Amino acid sequence: MSAKTESEPLASREIDAGDYRVIVAAGLRHEMASHIADAARAHHYAVVSDDQVAPLYAEPLVLALAAMASVSVHVIPSGESHKTRDTWARVTDGLLDAGCGRDTTVVALGGGVVGDLAGFVAATFMRGVPVVQCPTTLLAMIDASVGGKTGVDTAAGKNLVGAFHPPAVVLADVEMARTLPLAQRRAGLAEAIKHGVLADAEYFARIDEQLPALLDADPAATLDVVARSVEIKAGVVRADTREHGLRKTLNLGHTIGHAIEHVSGYGLLHGECVAIGMVLEARIAERLGVAESGTAARIGEVVRRAGLPTERPRGLSVDALVDATRLDKKARGGRMEYALPARIGAMAGADSAWALPVDDQLVHEVLA
Ligand code: NAD
Repeated sequence: MSAKTESEPLASREIDAGDYRVIVAAGLRHEMASHIADAARAHHYAVVSDDQVAPLYAEPLVLALAAMASVSVHVIPSGESHKTRDTWARVTDGLLDAGCGRDTTVVALGGGVVGDLAGFVAATFMRGVPVVQCPTTLLAMIDASVGGKTGVDTAAGKNLVGAFHPPAVVLADVEMARTLPLAQRRAGLAEAIKHGVLADAEYFARIDEQLPALLDADPAATLDVVARSVEIKAGVVRADTREHGLRKTLNLGHTIGHAIEHVSGYGLLHGECVAIGMVLEARIAERLGVAESGTAARIGEVVRRAGLPTERPRGLSVDALVDATRLDKKARGGRMEYALPARIGAMAGADSAWALPVDDQLVHEVLA
């Protein structure tokens, strides 16, 4: 019997996300081109990546795609500060310069920034061409690549311009997490912990047990977590694609999280902000009497063990953060609405479309 090599997929999971599939496997990058052609065959493939990911992973994919069709490569600078209309315009012009027409498939090879930006390019180019999401960060595999939200940031806030544009297929190679900096792995785990809190207490406990292997980017542990998180997220999105009800539960940790991200000038990673947001929003839920007592402490324990922060960063003003929560534009009767946990594994607010109004004063107290 021959030993397994890196190029041989170890194991594979396929999740039905409604109109498309999410394939999660170790070593999947070696078969990506054929999966892309199966799901969204085109005369031209426009590969969008960033300047950190492209040198690591673009060449073999481009060569394999080039055996089937013409290919152009569009590399953007890495980082949230480049998820802008300006970068969208440059990539779109790049596609036009490359002679792309309606028979083009956009291939997003990168983290959530590349996925959101390339998805938005695909949503708008020639009034919409297919996009294949090939997420390369844990956060993008677990969360950003699934659900069809695409877009860019503006000076006023995150993701304020965008479109729903579901991918033709999502191809997640969990081995790619090995080249990710540890801080990025930790940040990705914040969204997995969130999925455990909102839907599955057993999964939450499993993440806790598997933390050392996950932080080490062990492919088997990573595959398990990516697949379960995708199942949870895809299930929620299938039930409520346009976020009228259940999909709001995915915003757990994000109202305060986005405020921290904005006020810190993106000085913290998205997952770090979500981690703090989850703990503080669980405290709000306990203060309102909608969460079992001890929920925030239990979330805090796991978040801390994952090496993520749990408290408001010193130096960020409470007033500025409360003001910034309003950028999320989720208000009812003048009060901001939050997705809040009931306990580990279940959310509160089934009777109020999964969003509960919270007074600024309480947010102020919890942040202080
Ligand atoms: P990112 O895309 O900025 O990637 C993080 C860093 O890791 C970058 O420097 C990138 O170049 C590098 N990188 C990526 N893959 C790598 C690899 N395999 N090896 C080494 N380096 C690698 O950040 P992210 O955390 O992936 O995504 C955050 C973005 O995702 C935010 O803009 C957020 O709004 C968005 N997001 C979107 C959704 C959605 O539903 N569309 C959900 C959650 C988050």
